[in-house]
Amino acid sequence: MTIKLLSPELAAQIAAGEVVERPVSVVKELVENSIDAGSSRITVEIKGGGIEEIRVTDDGSGIPAAEAPLAFQHHATSKLDAPEALDAIATLGFRGEALPSIAAVSKMTLTTRPDAEDMGYFTEFAWGRPVGDGARGSPPGTSVVVADLFGNLPARRKFLKSAAAEAGRIHDLVARYALAYPEIAFRLAVGERQSLATPGSGRDADPLLAVYGAAVAAGMLAVSGADPETGYRVEGFASAPSLHRANRSYMTFFINRRWIQNRMLTFALEEAYHGLLPEKRYPIAALNLVLPYGDVDVNSHPAKREVRFHQEGKVYSTLQRAVRSALVSAAPVPELGAERRGTWAPFSGANVGRGFFRSQFDAGASGDSRPAAGGDNRVDAGLDGAGPPDAALTPQQALPALRVVGQVRLTYIVAESPDGMYLVDQHAAHERVLFDRIVRRAAQREVQSQPLLSPVAVELTPGQVATLEAHREFLQTYGYELEHFGENSYLVRAVPAILVTQDPGKSLLDVLDLVAFDGLLRERGDILAASVACHSAIRAGQSMTEAEMRSLLEQLEVTDNPHTCPHGRPTLIHFSSYHMEREFGRR
Ligand code: ADP
Ligand code: MG
Repeated sequence: MTIKLLSPELAAQIAAGEVVERPVSVVKELVENSIDAGSSRITVEIKGGGIEEIRVTDDGSGIPAAEAPLAFQHHATSKLDAPEALDAIATLGFRGEALPSIAAVSKMTLTTRPDAEDMGYFTEFAWGRPVGDGARGSPPGTSVVVADLFGNLPARRKFLKSAAAEAGRIHDLVARYALAYPEIAFRLAVGERQSLATPGSGRDADPLLAVYGAAVAAGMLAVSGADPETGYRVEGFASAPSLHRANRSYMTFFINRRWIQNRMLTFALEEAYHGLLPEKRYPIAALNLVLPYGDVDVNSHPAKREVRFHQEGKVYSTLQRAVRSALVSAAPVPELGAERRGTWAPFSGANVGRGFFRSQFDAGASGDSRPAAGGDNRVDAGLDGAGPPDAALTPQQALPALRVVGQVRLTYIVAESPDGMYLVDQHAAHERVLFDRIVRRAAQREVQSQPLLSPVAVELTPGQVATLEAHREFLQTYGYELEHFGENSYLVRAVPAILVTQDPGKSLLDVLDLVAFDGLLRERGDILAASVACHSAIRAGQSMTEAEMRSLLEQLEVTDNPHTCPHGRPTLIHFSSYHMEREFGRR
């Protein structure tokens, strides 16, 4: 092939790929433009997950009619005027790429009017080509409609998820900007449904309430701290240690109110909670770092999601210390204890243990207020109660019959067989047993659903509603029966049988967290099974009776793959007779 210059349209479509990956990228750019325009009201309306249509309306500065055509040129921006300005960017936008990029891959109309002008102006594009412009009556501000996203790029379309999943991402994005800009009234409508609304009062707590609901908002601590040397400041909210979630998606960071993703900040936040949260539980936080514009390079990612810091160590320590001191000073111990005993205990993991697996000793030690339920509380009840192993199952990689010798460090079972010694990780082994059972039954549509005596109402955040609706069928396959019950409320009528001893509302929230997170990453059918298995499995640190250990090993022996847990970690280590004899010099 001969070398040729790309046509401007094709070049624009290729360039657009960097900025516009999916509907949420469009919403991000448009909302950032509205914020930069000084808006006090920003409305986002989407249809079909934003693929059919995205409409963003603001009451900001508007664009003078004379300049509007220029806004759709590449590298056209009103936000940078000299090369030095790139070293200290104070606006969210600066690349001048968003509008032309979006226009290249959609049908787009922008209508705008500065307050001072009497008449508005519109300009319209289809797949990057101008198709009309002129005067049009309009309220002050700007409104952008983006329709049929990637209609000209079917390959790109294919990478999009379901409308509900795309809507979930958009909700998430708008929610995060709403948290950072309490003075702006945000509204998000997903189809006919209002998914989020903040009052724009300027009070930090208001968006927190709108995004996460009253229960979470009440459990959040104000964070405020500064590093005296650099002047770096941290402001925002972080959850009290009694409040936590099953994944990291509730941690939000802003740099000078720009939402960014950054592993270092995630580490700093987790470090601040060191020793305060159960294993595999994560805080909720919305934190803004205020740095001199010159100390952060925002021009390192096409979608401006990532930034580079001049003094990374200082940023880390400022954030970590500010949060830590908020936690230490604001969380008196007795209250923490009370919270743990109460609502959050069932999923708090670590050595607190689960309701129906908890030994009486643990129950006493953790101050559980429920009566110790005797035999029902023991591991064997949990294992047997979930049903006997499926006799029809043919093991693929058989384990020999194992004889229990004992338990080591309350974590490993020592067992022997004719071919040597086995060390079994009790949690991993139990996860494997439960996982196989759940998957098998789901596959056979033999739903192990347990109807509740009376339905339990749960109040969800709009984000959780989006997750639930996106995975509704999936949740049903695993035994959930859920009924919409006005606005953001649902009735739980039945739960997966394996979760029957849990608080139905709390366990649903956890499952939604896991599905939301893993669902985006993998979309595999066993996610729920794996998460339910993991949550229901006996923990390390719990003592087991010999009968319980025997029962567990018998069930492990007949699973499809007894050698690994659903996450791929080994369930057991084999010390062969030959190996032992050789090590002891007997061979
Ligand atoms: P950037 O935001 O990087 O400058 P964009 O392509 O997003 O580039 O926008 C180009 C220009 O159009 C902006 O610099 C701004 O002047 C104008 N503009 C875009 N959206 C709006 C809006 N909602 N209100 C006012 N002006 C806008
Ligand atoms: Mg922009």
